[in-house]
Amino acid sequence: MNAEIYTVRCWNCLNDFEAVEAVWCSCDPKHPTKLCPFCLHCFCPADDEYKRRAKTGETLVAQGLVTRSSIRRALRRARLRAVAGAKSSPLGPGLRDKARRVRALTR
Ligand SMILES: [Zn+2]
Ligand SMILES: [Zn+2]
Repeated sequence: MNAEIYTVRCWNCLNDFEAVEAVWCSCDPKHPTKLCPFCLHCFCPADDEYKRRAKTGETLVAQGLVTRSSIRRALRRARLRAVAGAKSSPLGPGLRDKARRVRALTR
């Protein structure tokens, strides 16, 4: 396996292309993204989730847009949401009820 080869799928035309050979766009010099060689669309209008997924491997598809701290912040937000969901879940009180009944039967 060659680490230098990394194919990405264009969000616009769904063609696979070699990210290493693709050129950077010039929309924002601070945050350039790769330009699709088939439809000549850059990745700038693609959503952050797509850019994050496309960023794995040796080649950056969106430079500087996805920082490590922003990923950590997203993870923390997802964890908080999961905790809140468990607390407000309608299954919560029901499970406690069932556990009490089981304890009563074994007594
Ligand atoms: Zn394309
Ligand atoms: Zn662009």
